[in-house]
Amino acid sequence: MINSNNRLHTHILGYPRIGSRRQLKFALESYWKGKSSLHELIQTAESIKKESWEKQHKAQLSIISSNDFSFYDHVLDTLCLVGAVPKRFKSNGPVSLDLLFTMARGMEKSRQGQDPSLLPHPMEMTKWFDTNYHYIVPEFEKDQHFSLSSTKPFEEFKQAKFLGYLSKPILLGPISFLFLGKKKDPSIKNDELIAKIIPIYEEILKEFYSLGADWVELDEPILTLDISSEWQKAFYEIYPRLKLAAPSLKILLATYFGALKENREIVCSIPIDGLHYDCTRAGHELQGLLQSWDKNKVLSLGIIDGRNVWKNDFSQSLKIIHHTLEFIPAELLWLAPSCSLHFVPVSLKEEKKINAEIRNWLAFADEKIEELSTLATLALRENYQNDDQYKENQKAIEQRKTSGLIHDPSVKERLAALKETDLSRKSPYRQRKELQAKKLGLPLFPTTTIGSFPQTAEVRKIRSQYRLGHIAEEQYDQFIQEEIRKVVQLQEEIGLDVLVHGEFERSDMVEYFGEKLKGFLITENGWVQSYGSRCVKPPIIYGDVSRQMPMTIKWSKFAQSITTKPMKGMLTGPVTILQWSFVRDDQPRKTTAKQIALAIRDEVKELEQNGLGVIQIDEPALREGLPLRKIDWNDYLQWAIECFRIASCCVEDSTQIHTHMCYSEFGDIIEAIAKLDADVISLEASRSNLELIDSFVRFRYPNDIGLGVWDIHSPRIPTTEEILVILRKALSVFPKESLWVNPDCGLKTRSYEEVIPSLKNMVEAAHLLRKEI
Ligand code: GLN
Ligand code: ZN
Repeated sequence: MINSNNRLHTHILGYPRIGSRRQLKFALESYWKGKSSLHELIQTAESIKKESWEKQHKAQLSIISSNDFSFYDHVLDTLCLVGAVPKRFKSNGPVSLDLLFTMARGMEKSRQGQDPSLLPHPMEMTKWFDTNYHYIVPEFEKDQHFSLSSTKPFEEFKQAKFLGYLSKPILLGPISFLFLGKKKDPSIKNDELIAKIIPIYEEILKEFYSLGADWVELDEPILTLDISSEWQKAFYEIYPRLKLAAPSLKILLATYFGALKENREIVCSIPIDGLHYDCTRAGHELQGLLQSWDKNKVLSLGIIDGRNVWKNDFSQSLKIIHHTLEFIPAELLWLAPSCSLHFVPVSLKEEKKINAEIRNWLAFADEKIEELSTLATLALRENYQNDDQYKENQKAIEQRKTSGLIHDPSVKERLAALKETDLSRKSPYRQRKELQAKKLGLPLFPTTTIGSFPQTAEVRKIRSQYRLGHIAEEQYDQFIQEEIRKVVQLQEEIGLDVLVHGEFERSDMVEYFGEKLKGFLITENGWVQSYGSRCVKPPIIYGDVSRQMPMTIKWSKFAQSITTKPMKGMLTGPVTILQWSFVRDDQPRKTTAKQIALAIRDEVKELEQNGLGVIQIDEPALREGLPLRKIDWNDYLQWAIECFRIASCCVEDSTQIHTHMCYSEFGDIIEAIAKLDADVISLEASRSNLELIDSFVRFRYPNDIGLGVWDIHSPRIPTTEEILVILRKALSVFPKESLWVNPDCGLKTRSYEEVIPSLKNMVEAAHLLRKEI
């Protein structure tokens, strides 16, 4: 630890793992394809870790962190560490990297000659809190056994030590780990799991102590959730035991993503040596915490936003830091980003093309580390206001506040002028349904798809050549039109009732709109990990949003012009665009969302004017936008619904609005979904159809429903018979007039060899069902 008296201590809770140019992604994919060796993969990992440590060192962070790297996912690493490999993977003892990949991705192709039912299915994945990062969900089985089964954290600690850094290893805490897992058998009790995992964590801490560690960070982000008293009690049980296991090893308990609320008492009473606290999301609670915090323990202030890309406002941060220093002695106050930096892109240095003014408002991971270091110095300086770095920072902050790039009075006025009538359709659903039936002339159980068709290598190649300016617009347009023509013909041959244009012009359903909307910025290299080797490049919303040009009209209009069947116009909804972007922090999320909704509204209107009688507004991220605490749900749902209605309610009664959501746990938000008042909703149903159908029936969902009868996430081709089984089941509970038939999501990741027979079977099932009734 660098110990100097004129700076506060600093550390981070994790650095991006993918490498500044996504080296990890390419190394992983090449290894999985058998094109490179394990040795090469490990070499890439080593250099990513080394670079991260060097950066932290160069920025003079007082403590350098280790074990924040992962080949795939840190929860998966944790389950390997404690030996919680599900039995189906037949593993005993140390977990190899290949086994780890198999757990995450399923068996490698080379071994797939066997009967697929004999291959262990991969572990489930789900979103990490309210981020777009996915973790592997641990599974706990009956008679679950834990044993120390990996040396990864120790190896990384030793590597850092070898390079001269006494690091603070970061581990997912035992209680969050158990909480985030799934019990495979209802008879498994939490206390049984808790009792079994304690000795493993004791062993881990002892090992770190013997390796010479000073601090270890245990992340317990579930302390920012509504957790039951059983889980709360677990903290009182586990932490004293961990402390006893290695009394001289100091424990930093890290919480992030929200306020502690009723869990504050826990962190103030259990025997830990320091607490990390997310000031960016829970600043309002800081005063209460300061009053109850033990002045002999470390408090790590998460002062820099680890979830967003904006420059820190030093004057605000220093105010908070100085206030905290009235309660906590300087040597015990640490500064940090609010959470791991792996939710933001690596470095602004890679951005060569973005507008210089906006660039000056941004800070990615590397810049955040610099900010941290500067804040640590400024905090203890008498006349920090005279410091050049401070002045420069304030200049950028001021400039952003008043920039003409951000503020567009006409958008603000338009939003303020919205009336209640703008937010509802002219007539109730029943009446609309009749008008739409007349206009569209659809059979019972109409068949359709969710929008995208396979994105072949050729489509991707031409699109990227066009982006690079290697082919002219005219040529590109012709190519896309040709693709549309083929896919329309294919859908007609298959016999689908409502067609789509295939979305060949879109690389990503959010980026496509981000590129066209005012107020959005697309980075060149702003990648963040989504899961495993998959990365996403979220657009940055920096200013008031509006539609500056038609976004989809050209393609949809063309597609409609070559068929007599109804063509669906295809849009991404405002909540999803918001959720999958970096969002302004200078106005409430809901304001930004409503601005996006207005822009989509313009597009909806123009689609209608151009003869599109069916328009789908996808909102796959509506549910994941739910706040972490239940108390905040209502407010969110209210504005999310409002946004959808702003976007969709401008059309005539005879125009049919669809929405699509791809997840299956609808139970708790069905009422909200009904309030969207979409004429048709298409859902993921194939994986959990019973549950889903059940919750819709219980709620008496009033409008039309398209059941996802084909699980497009798997390469399997569903048979006509199995589709019929799902449909018959649905028919036993839904009125026949309200049922649609569709796959459960877009087809862009599938191949035509899978798509054609599957859609044929789907259409045949609908035909058979029409005959049955
Ligand atoms: N329309 C989009 C598609 O078909 C929907 C994607 C999604 O739901 N994630 O690809
Ligand atoms: Zn979907």
